[in-house]
Amino acid sequence: MKKKVVYCAQCHNEITQAEEYWMVEDNFLQVKYFDEQDGSDNLFCSETCLLNHISATSHTFDDLERTHPNLEEIDEYEEEDDLE
Ligand SMILES: [Zn+2]
Repeated sequence: MKKKVVYCAQCHNEITQAEEYWMVEDNFLQVKYFDEQDGSDNLFCSETCLLNHISATSHTFDDLERTHPNLEEIDEYEEEDDLE
């Protein structure tokens, strides 16, 4: 019997059939970012490996001015309490 042997494109550990795998479903990224015809570079053992592979990181709002300096700003105003 044949089976497909699957490796994580980030950490290169084998992903067994007892586990789940992660992949990017976005069509633009599949066409423009990933190269392998068989999709083997779009297979990851964990959410962490996928996020590391595409350099996706989380930040606190302290970073916002550095990461997104051109975001539009709106005037702050006091919320009115309508629930009385
Ligand atoms: Zn991995």
